[in-house]
Amino acid sequence: MTPDDQDRQEDNETSCIFCRIVAGELPAEVVHRSDHTLAFRDINPAAPVHVLVVPRQHVENAAALGAEHAEVVTAMLAAAREVAEAEGIGLPDRGYRLVFNVGPDALNSVPHLHLHVIGGRAMTWPPG
Ligand code: 5GP
Ligand code: ZN
Repeated sequence: MTPDDQDRQEDNETSCIFCRIVAGELPAEVVHRSDHTLAFRDINPAAPVHVLVVPRQHVENAAALGAEHAEVVTAMLAAAREVAEAEGIGLPDRGYRLVFNVGPDALNSVPHLHLHVIGGRAMTWPPG
């Protein structure tokens, strides 16, 4: 991390709600932890299972990802699979939806990257 990155990380730790959950400063129902990720239940669930997998490191959104985040992204996908299995919606019998909302048209509301793990009911396509 450069000194500028360090400053930005410190700013985010005080202002970003998901950074504050990662830091243990705001409460959340945590269901999974790894070196790179934290997963907790969405406060306003859209389905019986609705968990958010976030990187411990502040990343703005999926459009801000680059090759330097390869390890973090892989860890997020592995965490999502482990959450789904632990919640009883894993393969082969059930299934789930993984969503990154990016930008205003997709109604992205929290500017800290998060992967929605949604399941526990049959879903329709296309999404609204
Ligand atoms: P987005 O719309 O940005 O993709 O998703 C943000 C999600 O974060 C929403 O589903 C919203 O319910 C959830 N959320 C917002 N604030 C909090 C919070 O403080 N705690 C938890 N657990 N979830 C939150
Ligand atoms: Zn953050």
